[in-house]
Amino acid sequence: MKDNHFVCADNVNVLGATYSIKLINGDERESLGENGGICECFSKELILNNKFDGDPRCVANFNDLKKKVLRHEIVHAYCFESGVDSNEDIDSELVTDWIAHQSPKMFISFLEAGALSKDTLRKISDLLVERYDDDYNLKRSNIIKKGDIC
Ligand SMILES: [Zn+2]
Repeated sequence: MKDNHFVCADNVNVLGATYSIKLINGDERESLGENGGICECFSKELILNNKFDGDPRCVANFNDLKKKVLRHEIVHAYCFESGVDSNEDIDSELVTDWIAHQSPKMFISFLEAGALSKDTLRKISDLLVERYDDDYNLKRSNIIKKGDIC
């Protein structure tokens, strides 16, 4: 898969709640506006803005940008499902963005260090086999190309 294609699942399980993942243009949903994405916690939707291509310096990394936005919205969903989405003592955007940015490296550290349970490792292994092809591309679901941005 080329880097100017973004592929993601149709939905994701967040602490037992199924959140649908939708790719739409910002002007189709008022709450999305110019944002890269939004987590609609009560309707269990993670909505990514097709039109959002971020900082012009990131245009070459369209796929990575969309993946980071998706991780960011998933972290918001985790906060909501954990009941910590409206804690006034925490800058939730800062923490959410930090987790979205660092979590892939954290997962690798957890794997390297042997810090994950057998159950977690089994789930990761099963997901890799079921949902990814031999080149680690997600097998199906939502797809947008950079050229699809209006
Ligand atoms: Zn946010």
